Amino acid sequence: MPKDQSQLIYLDHAATTPLDPRVLDAMLPFLTGSFGNASSLHAAGREASGAVEEARGRVALALGADPREVVFTSGATEANNLALRGVARAPAHARRPRRVVTCLTEHHAVLDPLAGLEAEGFEVVRLGVDRRGRVDLDRLDSELARGVLLVSLMSANNETGGRHPIAEIGARCRSHGALFHTDATQTFGKERLDVDEACVDLLSLSAHKLYGPKGVGVLYLRRKRPRVRVEALLDGGGHEGGRRSGTLNVPGIVGLGAATRIAEAERRADAERIAGLRDRFEASLAAEVEGLSVMGDVSDRLPGHSNLAFPGVDGDDLLKGLPGLCASTAAACTSASLERSHVLRALGHDPAGVAGSVRFSLGRTTTAGEVERAIRLILDGLHALRGG
Ligand code: PMP
Repeated sequence: MPKDQSQLIYLDHAATTPLDPRVLDAMLPFLTGSFGNASSLHAAGREASGAVEEARGRVALALGADPREVVFTSGATEANNLALRGVARAPAHARRPRRVVTCLTEHHAVLDPLAGLEAEGFEVVRLGVDRRGRVDLDRLDSELARGVLLVSLMSANNETGGRHPIAEIGARCRSHGALFHTDATQTFGKERLDVDEACVDLLSLSAHKLYGPKGVGVLYLRRKRPRVRVEALLDGGGHEGGRRSGTLNVPGIVGLGAATRIAEAERRADAERIAGLRDRFEASLAAEVEGLSVMGDVSDRLPGHSNLAFPGVDGDDLLKGLPGLCASTAAACTSASLERSHVLRALGHDPAGVAGSVRFSLGRTTTAGEVERAIRLILDGLHALRGG
């Protein structure tokens, strides 16, 4: 049996979120009595496909998209791979320039498939960022003027919560005839992004970042003006319009639909409350810790992110001394590889600053009491590390 986690203070919502009990309620019937395959034509199958289509509609509505533009995947890693490799390999786009533009602070689920395309002969331009994590839009324009197949820039960064100006970037890509993909894994369900208003052609998202289940996500693919084509990564039964073969994960998809519905209703109130807690957390720590600094864009970031650099301390050592507190150094996905944050390095921080950083991320379940306890634990931990 896994250990009871209710005593932990969970400040790692950017890595994953707990399943909302309302999402579990929506999923349960599809994990038990209603087990049909959404491709089957009989009554059990029709019930499953009805539930899948309802979830597709919910996601489409939240994006301002057509349900036919929503392709279910196993998560954002797969959605990013399908977007990038799929567009690059699609015969319909073969006459476009073989150049892709991204930036240094993207998630590895974007950077690594792009490195794969580079090995296949594509030119990949990786834009640098300023101290706030922003790309230089004039530099983007000059790259676009040289001819670009696809631009991939994330909506907000997983380590710092810093945003990119997606609508501005989308308009520039559109005017130069480049396709625009955004990895919206950290923003979907937290803030509105209308794919038409922002000129987004492809968008990735993942249910487990918005209090839904792990192992399910979406690639949004524009159908018109322009029509985006992707070469499938998986060959098989031709599900999802031939774009993603494999029996649909009906309970997961239903969970994503429910999580999207709840997020749409509650995200504004959540954001205000969470940003208030985060600001209190940072102000209390800053009052006690000399030289504490916030990494990334302090004035324009997601409400729950707080990436803090503790001077003279190793972030891993600090967290090791606080077993009741869940937060992370570098992104969870890369922590196994012992790589120190490529994001903070790209922002221009020196190795000592990077080593001293810890990402805290607050979410829907975070309480004021937990924040107070976390502050005390961190201050005690720092005191212990510095020799009491
Ligand atoms: N992109 C970003 C920005 C992320 O934060 C994550 C999750 N760490 C992913 C992609 C990968 O998502 P998934 O876990 O659904 O594969």
